[in-house]
Amino acid sequence: MKRSLFLLILLFTFSSSFAQIIIDHVEPPNWWVGMKSSSLQLMIHGNNVGKTEPSVNVKGVKIKKYEKAGSDYMFIDLQIGRDVKPCTVTLSFNDEGKPLATWNYELKAREAGSASRKSFTTADNLYLIMPDRFANGDPSNDDMPGMLEKADRNNPHGRHGGDIKGIVSNLDYLQNLGVTGIWCTPLLENNMPAASYHGYAITDLYKVDPRYGTNESYRDMVTEAHRKGIKVIMDMVFNHYGTKHWWMKDLPQKDWINEWPEFTRSNFRGGVNIDPHASQYDKDRMVNGWFDNTMADFNQKNKYVANYLIQNSIWWIEYAGLDGIRQDTYPYSDQEFMAGWMKRLREEYPNFNTVGEVWLNTPQQVASWLDKSEHDLGFRTYLSNVFDFPLMFAIQKAFVENDGWDTGLARLYEMISQDFLYNDPNSLVLFADNHDIERIYQVLKSPENVKMAMAFLFTTRGIPMIYYGTEAFSDRGNLEGDPGKRKDFPGGWAGDAQNFFTKNNLSAEQKEFTVYLSKLMNWRKGNLAVQQGSLTHYVPEDGIYVYFRIKGDQTVMVIMNNNSKEKKVETKRFNENLKGFRRGKDVMDGSTIKDLDKIEIPAKSVRILELSR
Ligand code: CA
Repeated sequence: MKRSLFLLILLFTFSSSFAQIIIDHVEPPNWWVGMKSSSLQLMIHGNNVGKTEPSVNVKGVKIKKYEKAGSDYMFIDLQIGRDVKPCTVTLSFNDEGKPLATWNYELKAREAGSASRKSFTTADNLYLIMPDRFANGDPSNDDMPGMLEKADRNNPHGRHGGDIKGIVSNLDYLQNLGVTGIWCTPLLENNMPAASYHGYAITDLYKVDPRYGTNESYRDMVTEAHRKGIKVIMDMVFNHYGTKHWWMKDLPQKDWINEWPEFTRSNFRGGVNIDPHASQYDKDRMVNGWFDNTMADFNQKNKYVANYLIQNSIWWIEYAGLDGIRQDTYPYSDQEFMAGWMKRLREEYPNFNTVGEVWLNTPQQVASWLDKSEHDLGFRTYLSNVFDFPLMFAIQKAFVENDGWDTGLARLYEMISQDFLYNDPNSLVLFADNHDIERIYQVLKSPENVKMAMAFLFTTRGIPMIYYGTEAFSDRGNLEGDPGKRKDFPGGWAGDAQNFFTKNNLSAEQKEFTVYLSKLMNWRKGNLAVQQGSLTHYVPEDGIYVYFRIKGDQTVMVIMNNNSKEKKVETKRFNENLKGFRRGKDVMDGSTIKDLDKIEIPAKSVRILELSR
């Protein structure tokens, strides 16, 4: 009697621990054969999976080791042999050799040329889209089952319904504008209860938010964009994720995130990472503090977290066919991890570029993050590109103040003159505003000023980028804070009074500017001097800033007049670059200047001249 009771209890224990093995997540969801690295680390999550022993059934695919994490997680390190062909591997989760659960895991074939893919370069004109605010191509997905936040276009912090279909249906518009690359703020699931439209509180790193579309529709968007000569840069967030992520109920490992005795925010001082006098407290606070109470901070010192993030980025590159990555809040992450990530990406994709959001004020600080910079972090960062925040701040001031020793156009000159700090100044991504910065039209206050800013952006060194709506002077309207920076794109919703796509109901000034900008951007697409040429500039005098872009026998001269009256510019002091040239063709109005000794330039304007002998 006693003995049978014992057996019964044993059986009961056995069945309660093992009968219900339900695999909920296997991440990455698939992988590819023929990758440079033959290692793959799977994260398995499911009821009691941590109590089993894993096995695989394909020759050439080996389990190098596995690590049980609690009762519901397991990390399996696979070695995928060079000779393994695309196949489905059956992962078995066994007890004493008997499979209690299985999972079919696909190893796919890579697209041809995947490893040698090209990325964004100085040949590109980039365009930043905030998808929720761009165009609602599919009103039926505005509210989706299971999503905590419902659409509400009247709520400035709410979801407005823009989606992937809205982007795809307007690729022709972007192509005509002269765009050759788009960066969309994150499209991955943000299943948060409120203010999730911006996308930076990701709750599933392997899933497009259903209110935008599906993984497949994202991949199709990339394919369609490529057909139209438009590259796609994916916005990734490795520093933090949304606190409604599925794993928050039971973290994969105790040290998966940085936790503090009480909620502790980052100090947002990216400069402490390179400050020789910084306290360890400030450094820890910067990197390990939370970005927000709704955004948990990844502990990238944990090797499993590091692998998870690295593989996630590779998965999206392979799956969707990406042309680049924009990495959010770059200095908030563990810098050695980020360097390791970049190194690994470069090993898999030698030509692939990543632009880091290093939101700091001076070129010295920004340059530190770039690979092989003069003032580095003490180790190679392998980061190929950064945004030129210092130049953005200069642009936002240069055209709205009087010209003085260090004001007005001197700000642009001074900023460009510090390019010695950068290993390659052409790797800087240039912008006048973005989703976190006051819109350029709002700041510069007049069409003339915005035109000048754009003429500068598209003719100086680096990779130019504009923010959606810039092309028709989007402003903040009557909205304060972030909502003002992230207004709906007019025409993106049925019934909008104004339509930027069709130019319906635009003012004469708006119409004229869309033509101007599209002409400028399309011209740049074909001009190697501006894309790749050397840059020689001259000290601004009397509110006039002049520079030359030179590549082989192509020379472009840019003359900027920041004065409120027309100027006749004596060109003798530019002879070093002008000598031998007899004519200049004005790229924007098509006129020809036959006498280069004295060039007329209207008030508050820029002339872009292609010089000929
Ligand atoms: Ca929608």
